[in-house]
Parts: sequence; structure tokens; C-alpha cells
Amino acid sequence: MEIKYRTVPLVLRKYEALARRLRRGHPKWAEVQYELAKRRKGYAGEKKVDYYLRMLASKFTILHDVCLNVNGQTFQMDNLIITPHAIYIIDVKSYHGSINFDHILKQSIHADGKTERGYMYPITQVELQQYKLQQWLLEQSLPSIPIYHFVAISEPSTSIHVKGDEEAVAKIVGHGEDMPRRILHQEELLTNGPVFQHQQICYAIKNNCVEFDLDVMDIHQLNQSDLQQGVFCPECGYLGIPRTHSGWYCHQCQKKYRNAHMPAIDDYLLLVKPRIRNSECMEWLKVNSRSTITRILQNSDLLYDAKRRWWMK
Ligand SMILES: [Zn+2]
Repeated sequence: MEIKYRTVPLVLRKYEALARRLRRGHPKWAEVQYELAKRRKGYAGEKKVDYYLRMLASKFTILHDVCLNVNGQTFQMDNLIITPHAIYIIDVKSYHGSINFDHILKQSIHADGKTERGYMYPITQVELQQYKLQQWLLEQSLPSIPIYHFVAISEPSTSIHVKGDEEAVAKIVGHGEDMPRRILHQEELLTNGPVFQHQQICYAIKNNCVEFDLDVMDIHQLNQSDLQQGVFCPECGYLGIPRTHSGWYCHQCQKKYRNAHMPAIDDYLLLVKPRIRNSECMEWLKVNSRSTITRILQNSDLLYDAKRRWWMK
């Protein structure tokens, strides 16, 4: 059974918003586009692997996109498969072409010959996840169930090469479609081993999950003044369509859109602050009328904090 599903990650939604709001030609435009493309690819790869893992849903419990706090730090795992005998961590990597695992120097090198800078060796990374999960179970006074880890390569066409101990790498790294077989094989070996209160563990993890977040503006050293204001046309993407009576009019499409401001408000909440005041909304949407803004915000899904006089989700 799948008890936690994968949704579009908050950080990816932030990058989508940032890429929309940064004008082309901005000094940070290219690096934001690169990060967005990487995160989109990562998310697509994770969904591909979800498809294969779903085969195990009738037998075991699956949690996708798990983020937990341990010792005041968050750690993230792409997938957890929980059985009466063990927990399996499946970390997903989306590489195109070929990937070299240098098990001696603990680094991965891409087909283009460039070392993957700024990223941890995938095996070290998943080992660390396992260690943190063990710590977390201990902190929560949950049973110390055995934990196994795998690195799943999402693209079936990616060829995997190893420098050093090939067998050690092959035990952990494989293509996404091979993951169910590996888990079933390990489960067979554990059949006569101890049985754990796995339901208790599953729900403890699910109930303690937090949403993984990053301050993308801070990462790229951006301020609100770097962001383009205004409302996008939902059809042609023109930025700065004016407010007309009860809607937004795009002169290019010659059409009126009632709710074109909603994604714009979302962008503000994702990038600037998780709350918005009437005056800030007027400036962001480029609307001069205070009563119009009040009406827009009252009809949105935001909640008004009367004491602080701001709106938030
Ligand atoms: Zn338009």
C-alpha cells in the first residue's frame, strides 16, 4: 500500500516561479534555468522509478518523498519500502548517457568527462541516509529494524560503469526496473528472521514527515527587486496584463481571464514571503484600486490574519 504519495516538490515549484519571474538576460537567469532543468529531470526520474516500485504496493508499505528531522537537521529520502522484516531506502538518480562510479575515490563521473561537482558520491549519500534513519528510529524509540539501501538509476538507457570494487557497487546500484526484484530477493532471505511492528514504524514516519524546503532567493543571492511583477496571461504568457472589470484582459489574445492573478499571488508566496499584505499585493499585481485587491484576496483561498493584517495559506 502506498501511504505517502509524491507531489511536485516545493523547491521545484519555487524554481518554476523563479524562472518565470526572472527576466531573460538577468545575470542569474542561466544558473536558475540550469537548476530548474536539473530538478525537473530529477522529479521525472523519481516518477519513473515510482512506477516500478508500485509493483510492491500489494505486499509492502511504500512512502515516497520522505523528509524527517534528526538532531535539528532535515534529511530526505526518495522512497521507503517497509516490510515486516526491513526498511529499504531507494535513492533515485537521473543520469543520461553513462555514469561512472569510481568506488576508489568515491566520486561519480558523467559521460561528458566532468566530475559531478558539489554532489556527494551517490553511495555515500544513501549510506548517510541509512545512518540518519537509524538515528531517527532510535530517537523515536521505535524498533531497530534492519535497513537496506539502493541507488536506482531512473533511465533504462543509462549505462553504468564501475572503477574499483564492481561487486560492491552492483549490490547497491541498479536500474529502477530491477529494484522490485532486489527487494523481493532480500525479503526471501529474511523470511525466517525477526518480525517487526512495521505498521507502527510506517505511520510514525508518515506523521513526522516535513516538507523539504530551500530558500532559493538566498541560494542565488536575489532580492525581490530582481523579480518581475505583474500578472501573466494564462494562454500566451505575456507579462503585465491589465486588470479590467472583474478580470484580466490580454490584448494579444483578446480575451478576459477571471483568475489570472492566482498563480501570480502563488509566485509571491513562494519567492518573497509566505504571507502578503493588501498594499504588497497591489504593487505585485500592479493594481491601483485597494477595493479590487481586497475583493481579489477575499475570494482567494488565503486566510486573513486580522491582527497582523496579512493573508496566508
Ligand atoms: Zn495572452
